Amino acid sequence: MLNGDSQTWDKMLAYLRANHPVICRKWFEELKPLGIAGGAMQLRTQSDLHRDYLRKQCTDAFSDAARGVTGQLISVRFLGPNDIETRPPVDAKGLKPVLAKPTEVRPSVEPVIIQPTEPKRTQRESLTINPDYCFDNFVVGPGNRLAHAAADAVASNPGRTYNPYFIHGGVGLGKTHLLQAMCLRIVERNPALVIYYTSCEDFVTQFIDSVQSGQMADFRYRFRDVDVLVIDDIHFLAKRERTQEEFFHTFNSLHQANKQIILSSDAAPEEIPDLENRLVSRFKWGLVAKIDPPCYETRVAILKTKARIRGLNLPDDVAEFVASKIDSNIRELEGVIGKLHILAAVEHRSIDLDLAREALGDAGREVVAQPRVQVIIDVVCDFYRVNIRDLQSKNRQRSITQPRQICMFLLRRLTKLSLTEIGGYFGGRDHTTVMHAIKTVETSLTDSEFAAVIKTLEERIRRSPGNG
Ligand code: ADP
Ligand code: MG
Repeated sequence: MLNGDSQTWDKMLAYLRANHPVICRKWFEELKPLGIAGGAMQLRTQSDLHRDYLRKQCTDAFSDAARGVTGQLISVRFLGPNDIETRPPVDAKGLKPVLAKPTEVRPSVEPVIIQPTEPKRTQRESLTINPDYCFDNFVVGPGNRLAHAAADAVASNPGRTYNPYFIHGGVGLGKTHLLQAMCLRIVERNPALVIYYTSCEDFVTQFIDSVQSGQMADFRYRFRDVDVLVIDDIHFLAKRERTQEEFFHTFNSLHQANKQIILSSDAAPEEIPDLENRLVSRFKWGLVAKIDPPCYETRVAILKTKARIRGLNLPDDVAEFVASKIDSNIRELEGVIGKLHILAAVEHRSIDLDLAREALGDAGREVVAQPRVQVIIDVVCDFYRVNIRDLQSKNRQRSITQPRQICMFLLRRLTKLSLTEIGGYFGGRDHTTVMHAIKTVETSLTDSEFAAVIKTLEERIRRSPGNG
């Protein structure tokens, strides 16, 4: 190792904290600097997952830090626990190209290192797992207790408890976090198991590509020769008949072989629009667990956890203040922590109530000024004498479709939700459905009677006491 590399690394950490605060995590302190070789600063990570995450998410920031600190054009290489490090040239003149000779460095361990890349059944090219999304960082509360307990049981004993395990709940309530926590746990306890973690969107894309290129055999092998298949946002299968058919066979093949299937969705199986009955029934074979929005105490605990992961000191009163202002989507809570993190780093201030008010600032005021989703839905349901379950169902009677479309229209007009998020509140309908609903309402606005109804609804929403 070159002299002074530890110091270089300490400076890089400080540089990252000052210039790229948002990506900084407490566990960066556990990265081990190995030295600079071949024009790259090498950093050893705790696990291959950490390495993959850093490579994908943080390479630019780390390289910027390496350049900023050394003043040289060097890059950064992340190594997993078993990756071979490049040693600096051994002869004094530094003329030997060391990169080409890794065997010279650790000949005895070479076969072991090569092995993971060429076993018969390799780990699949999964989506990147975020090391933050582990069980330790998941706060358990009344809204997610069952989902968490079942996730814990399934991950500790894949294929033997609930199969499939199906988690559903609204946007930003921790489905992806739990799925990744399960993957992390399984990898940790059973490194030999082959896990394939991906999004339903990716499944659909791969399916279409394989059909087009005539490589279905490859596709089937990829998804069926695994021990654990984890698919996020399975509601994306809605209306995709051919992919549903293929997924049906994938499911059967894995299930018959006692391979674990883990799925997440923004709606319960029977509420996913246009999903084949045989899939609906299969999704319910194992355990279906719902995640509900977090209560106040859980929100406070989540804020503290998010701050801890970033190495931030978040006083209780600040956590309580933020938790009282943002009560729906946990992703928004995390957004505020990110903002506090930047403000504190850039302006060298400590995190207190003043800073929190500032961080909530525009976003905060908007959140408060925006009518709550619940208020909008309640007002429309009340006016049309329907209940929210009907709006979320697949019911297509006009007495239901009209209020459903109006809700979507008002959510789009009065909140900042995206089309997909709006669809999420209505049984996971996709953005094209939402767009269609909005257009339908807009067209009807030419009718003055209808326009008056919409105006009345908007006024009721603005006056509603539940708002703010
Ligand atoms: P979803 O997939 O349901 O839309 P995510 O899993 O992406 O939601 O969660 C959004 C954010 O909220 C993530 O940063 C996640 O870590 C965080 N989060 C959600 N639930 C919890 C929880 N119970 N404890 C800690 N963090 C949580
Ligand atoms: Mg998700």
